[in-house]
Amino acid sequence: MDEIKVANLGQAASAACSMATNLLAPVKTERQIYENSMLEDDPNANSVVSTSQEDRTVPRWGPNHKGAQELANLYSTGKRTQECICIGICITLIIVNSIFILVRLRLENLSSIAIAAFCGIVTADFGSGLVHWAADTWGSVELPILGKNFLRPFREHHIDPTSITRHDFIETNGDNFMVTIPFLYKLTWDFLTLPESEIQQKFVWTCYWFLLAIFVAMTNQIHKWSHTYFGLPSWVIWLQEHRVILPRKHHRVHHVAPHETYFCITTGWLNWPLEQLRFWYILETIIEKATGCKPRADDLKWAQKRS
Ligand SMILES: [Zn+2]
Ligand SMILES: [Zn+2]
Repeated sequence: MDEIKVANLGQAASAACSMATNLLAPVKTERQIYENSMLEDDPNANSVVSTSQEDRTVPRWGPNHKGAQELANLYSTGKRTQECICIGICITLIIVNSIFILVRLRLENLSSIAIAAFCGIVTADFGSGLVHWAADTWGSVELPILGKNFLRPFREHHIDPTSITRHDFIETNGDNFMVTIPFLYKLTWDFLTLPESEIQQKFVWTCYWFLLAIFVAMTNQIHKWSHTYFGLPSWVIWLQEHRVILPRKHHRVHHVAPHETYFCITTGWLNWPLEQLRFWYILETIIEKATGCKPRADDLKWAQKRS
């Protein structure tokens, strides 16, 4: 009887050990990172490991990749105009809502607003992962309207990850600002039309939506900083190092081909738990079974357009 107990204990201990090893193991090893992602912090490729003959003659990543050049050329004046308009509307709505909120701010609400801010940043991180995953994994640049205007930047970003660091404020942030417009508009509409008692009643909830919109709007700027290895302001580096915003080393895990994990790009807080739950993998398996579509088929096609 005692022997059985000891054997069971031994089995339980070894199961706990293997679980701990799995949990503590890096999602991508240093070698996987070196072999399957662009060395953004090492532009002269001093630390590069030996690669195939093809990798040495045809660029696998970067601005000289033929697919990246083709995608960069698809950025049109029409798209630029849409981004400018969205940024203008979004900033106006942020200013208007800020005024409505500031005049109603009470000291006794501050702790609830801090909770609303925390929930807002976690929701933004999850939302960034969901949209990023959907755009990376499904659809194609050939799709009418959606493809050229909204999926193209995701394809370009995988084969030339540092192109984002050469994009200006409008190209970087236009689409994220656009996503927040309906939410910010609804908040303004409520402030203008609802009786004051009702506004007061759902004030913390309003703060949550407002802060969520701000974090969503800031997400691609934060993502751009995670690719910027030179010349970042020290306060941005401080926020990255303290994991308040997406850290550079953390985001490198997403950029390891085939780009199948670590999609959250606001704070990156949810990347590890979602990976442990195999969240994206399960979602992809269900969609592939239901539709027959292969995940990342279009992404792979663009990555292979090297010459
Ligand atoms: Zn991606
Ligand atoms: Zn990135």
